[in-house]
Order: sequence, then structure tokens, then C-alpha cells
Amino acid sequence: MGIIIKTPAEIEKIREASKRLAFVLDEVKKIVKPGVSTKELDKYAEKLIREQGDSPAFLNYRPVGAKKPFPASLCVSVNEEVVHGIPKEDKILQEGDIVCIDLGINHKGVFADMAYTVPVGEVSSASKKLMDTTQRSLMVGIDAARGGGRVGDIGYAIESFVKKQGRFGIVEVLAGHGVGREIHEDPYIPNFGKKGTGAKLVPGMVIAIEPMLNNGTKNVVIGKDDWTISTADKKRSAHFEHTILITEDEPEILTIQ
Ligand code: MG
Repeated sequence: MGIIIKTPAEIEKIREASKRLAFVLDEVKKIVKPGVSTKELDKYAEKLIREQGDSPAFLNYRPVGAKKPFPASLCVSVNEEVVHGIPKEDKILQEGDIVCIDLGINHKGVFADMAYTVPVGEVSSASKKLMDTTQRSLMVGIDAARGGGRVGDIGYAIESFVKKQGRFGIVEVLAGHGVGREIHEDPYIPNFGKKGTGAKLVPGMVIAIEPMLNNGTKNVVIGKDDWTISTADKKRSAHFEHTILITEDEPEILTIQ
């Protein structure tokens, strides 16, 4: 497909899509508490998206290689689940869980993508550190995404930061990506890498950066449902994601209200 440099009109629409997405995800976050099912979070996200006249980007999404389409609007991944958790009526959030909510939106034909991991009630200090480090690594990655730089600068920044924070596994088989005309576009943006390598970052590119950190090793496995990715050692994982616009200078975070 190749990397797409967005037109100013497209950027304006993606900015609006991203704002709407951030609103929905923030609202969903407010109802995360012990006793709520992951399906309730999904239903609420879909309702809010449709109320704004938009549509969920992940519902029925079937990337190349997937055995079946994703059956929900929101990916809800709890504790050892890294990403792509399928919401379920009988999966009930418990005090002390950490839950990743990941959502994509289609607003007037353009897409935005965003995720964060939130605590359910009071969580352990190890879980807090995991979430905090992952969120900070996202911000470090965003700061490294400058027009004139390279995709590898982002992964390098994330990886170097994480290594200084302690023993975390950086998931390597999943990555950030271009976004805008489709939910997943080129370039592929790993959360590790070498400075000065990979595709050039050009003002007008819109990308999603999304580090996933594990409390154990980087290894992950795919579940029997063909979607849910979990850590191989069952230790917890966290995931944060923003859609951003590459500029000449500091990138603009789009998925913000
Ligand atoms: Mg994404």
C-alpha cells in the first residue's frame, strides 16, 4: 500500500475522528469497576460511537491472515491478555485487575486508533508500575516521532527507555502502524529498533504508536478464539496507544479531547 501523506482536509477529519474517539474511550473508562462485564464495556463503547453518527472500526474487521472477523467494537484485554481480547458477558472485572481498552473509530470515512490500560479498583504496586512505565514509554516514543526522522527512532526511544526502568518484556510481534484512510496502514512501527533506520517520517503522516509491555518475558501466545493475545508466562501486560500527526517539530497527539 505504501505510506500515505495525508492532505490538510484529511488531517482535519482525522483530528475530529480522534477527538471523538478520545471522548468515547474516556467515557468507557469511567464505567470500569469491579462487577462490570467486558461485554458491557463493549456495548457502551459502540452505543457512544453510534450516537455520534460514527461507526466502530474493529467490529467485523478481518485483517489479512485472520481466521475470522473481530466480533466486537472494543478490544478488552484483562491482566495477562495483551491485546485483542474479545468482550464477553461472563467475563467480569475483579478488584485488582488491570484492563486494556482499545478502540478504533470510523468518522466520515477516516480512522483513528487509541488504547489505554486502567486499574479496576485498587491494584498492586507492580501493576501500577507496569501501567505507568508503559504509558511513559508511549510518550517517549511520541516525542521521538519527528518529521525528517525515521521509524526506527521511535522503537529505539521506547526500547532504551524501557530497559532503564527495570525488567519488562517488550512485545515484538505486534507494532504501531499508519492510520487514517484505513485502520491499519504502512508503515509498521515496532516498539524496539535502531535509530536512523526504517521508513522516513514525513510531516502529514498519521501514525498510531502502541507499546505493549509485559511483567515477564516478551513472548505471547494466541488463544483458542483465534484473537486474544496473552503473555506466554501468564504475567500481566499493559498497552497504551495514541494516534499522532507527524509535523516538522513536535508531533501532535490527535487522540485527546
Ligand atoms: Mg493500533
